[in-house]
Amino acid sequence: MNPQKFTDLDLPETLLSCLSAIGYDAMTPVQAQVLPLALTGHDIIAKAKTGSGKTVSFGLVALAKLHVSQYLPQTLVLCPTRELADQIAEVIRRLARTTGNVKVLTLTGGSSTRAQITSLEKGVHIVVGTPGRVEDHLRRGSLKLELVGTLVLDEADRMLQMGFQDAIERIVDALPAKRQTLLLSATYPDEIQSIASRVMQEPAMISVDTEHAPAVIEQHFYRVENARHRLEALQALLLVNSAESVLIFCNTKIAVSEVTTSLGDAGFSVISLHGDLEQKDRDRNLIRFVNRSAVIMVATDVAARGIDIEKLDLVVNYELSKDMEVHIHRSGRTGRAGESGAVITLIDDADKYRVEQLEKMLGYTLKRKPAPSGHPPGKVPLKARTLTLEVNAGKKQKLRPGDILGALTGEGGVDGSQVGKIKILNTRSFVAVDRQIVKLSQEKLRRIKGRTYRTRVL
Ligand code: ADP
Ligand code: MG
Repeated sequence: MNPQKFTDLDLPETLLSCLSAIGYDAMTPVQAQVLPLALTGHDIIAKAKTGSGKTVSFGLVALAKLHVSQYLPQTLVLCPTRELADQIAEVIRRLARTTGNVKVLTLTGGSSTRAQITSLEKGVHIVVGTPGRVEDHLRRGSLKLELVGTLVLDEADRMLQMGFQDAIERIVDALPAKRQTLLLSATYPDEIQSIASRVMQEPAMISVDTEHAPAVIEQHFYRVENARHRLEALQALLLVNSAESVLIFCNTKIAVSEVTTSLGDAGFSVISLHGDLEQKDRDRNLIRFVNRSAVIMVATDVAARGIDIEKLDLVVNYELSKDMEVHIHRSGRTGRAGESGAVITLIDDADKYRVEQLEKMLGYTLKRKPAPSGHPPGKVPLKARTLTLEVNAGKKQKLRPGDILGALTGEGGVDGSQVGKIKILNTRSFVAVDRQIVKLSQEKLRRIKGRTYRTRVL
């Protein structure tokens, strides 16, 4: 029988106490299958849907094997996007809190290569990066990989789809042959097998619970007549649904920008996430959506991949994905942790065959309805509960979430219950506050820990 609790595993005490401090007690199914094997050094291919807890699985392996006194990279995590790299690094840092001075560095595009080189020179233990920038550092000689004992390929299917195969193979050539390789993926296309056969040794295949319980996630299919009807139907469905946190998937960046503009013009609280945005805007947008200062996020699959968002009420497929496994994966973004969720998909005649294919995969019939047109009477777009304030200081200025909360709730300040998520980046910080207290919050944030800062509303 598989172990159920982290304490059943052969993990260092420091990690176990950290897990219990975070509040993780039972393992998720993927963790229960991956960890016992991975901790003995096995190569593993794990296929499991988003939200199943893969990051903690490989994060624990990296930390369990770590020698803190060696200031050279010992685990290399490759993943498709910068946002995901940031998220993974954050999870690992959290797991490492009780282990002592563990240095986790992200190497991704959009940040200064110089600054990354300086950090590498100071010494790091775990590197999380995108293949392009990691290769760049290898070429410059700034990244030393001779002590890497664990390679992690996270969201491997997506990296291959993005054309990173050659870069990954060149990076693997620079790694010690004697190492452990863990490959995590939501889907299992043929390309995975082909790269696995080149970079892994007798990997164990673990596959967990790919399909989603039909009882928990309601799938609604709406037929649209043409492109204009598609936009109109989307707005009507959003108005009727009045969900508080909605993720809309489009197949292309062009569609993302069309949908975002049209919803914005119609008064919806909407942001977008796609590769062409500047990094700063991608950060801001994602933060605003996660902290609930925007109701709707419109994204491509690539941009939204792997990003952990709590409590999505509704997923909308503005366009049906070309790949039904991706559709199932998108749908799994709602209805997490056993909560109910809804998925709306707009389809047209050209999608007929794929919907039938999906029915075969799911094993039940999907109802198609004609999509609504026109504006539903008496409905207005839902406003976000909070607004986000951006402060021009962050980790560099040694700001912590408690400092921002303290400044806000200090004498004559706001009530703590009106403050939402706080996020500290290197040189900027973000805090969500209730709409009604934006002015007071801005005043309060002018002085934090005795220093003066600038704040603006996003
Ligand atoms: P994946 O990489 O499989 O998409 P993540 O690693 O991002 O999933 O985890 C999804 C969520 O589950 C995260 O919010 C994480 O904090 C939470 N989580 C992971 N492991 C556990 C656990 N054992 N108990 C409770 N929550 C967990
Ligand atoms: Mg993941």
